[in-house]
Amino acid sequence: MTADDDYFALLDRAKEKLPEVAENHDRFTVPEVDVIQEGKITVVRNFLDITDVLRRDNDHVLQFLLRELGTPGNIEGRRVVLKSKISPAAIQDKIQTYTDTFVICSECGRPDTKLLKDGRTLILECEACGARRPVNVKKTSRSDTNNSLKVGDVIEVFINDVGKKGDGTGKFMDYLVVVPGTVKGAKVNAKITNISAKTAFAQRTNENPTR
Ligand SMILES: [Zn+2]
Repeated sequence: MTADDDYFALLDRAKEKLPEVAENHDRFTVPEVDVIQEGKITVVRNFLDITDVLRRDNDHVLQFLLRELGTPGNIEGRRVVLKSKISPAAIQDKIQTYTDTFVICSECGRPDTKLLKDGRTLILECEACGARRPVNVKKTSRSDTNNSLKVGDVIEVFINDVGKKGDGTGKFMDYLVVVPGTVKGAKVNAKITNISAKTAFAQRTNENPTR
């Protein structure tokens, strides 16, 4: 017996002792975001690879990301171009939130699900265990404007701070609202004149709030 024979014999015996390959579920792994930053632009290079794994509509995932990250952006080829500087970790985090909310079955933890509409309710139906649950949507569809401000909205805002340029600022939903000519502690009606990501610029007004 040569040393090689010994070696192969050993290998055969070792193989016999190996347990059967553990459950052969193809493991569900969402790819890590592959992000490059170019100045104030952030590019997710493998966006469509991610949506392929999630088996969700590209645009649905995109709109969720844009809303959650508070940035404009669009799909270009297989990439997403975000028009803000955003950290890869923040993007990964939102992809995870999307996955937990819109993909993973809360009963069995499997990703073999599909989204259905039941009237106005979005339902996550699991093809593995048959469970159905309404998607717990805080900010989902584009038509849901309750969580976003638009130019022309009149809001009542409490000025609780003063910005760098001396303008009063307050919070409305998850927006920072900047209202020139106001002082800390004031409660004013303000009309939105411009919105940039999650900062809304507004002017004092006598109009009644529309929101
Ligand atoms: Zn399930």
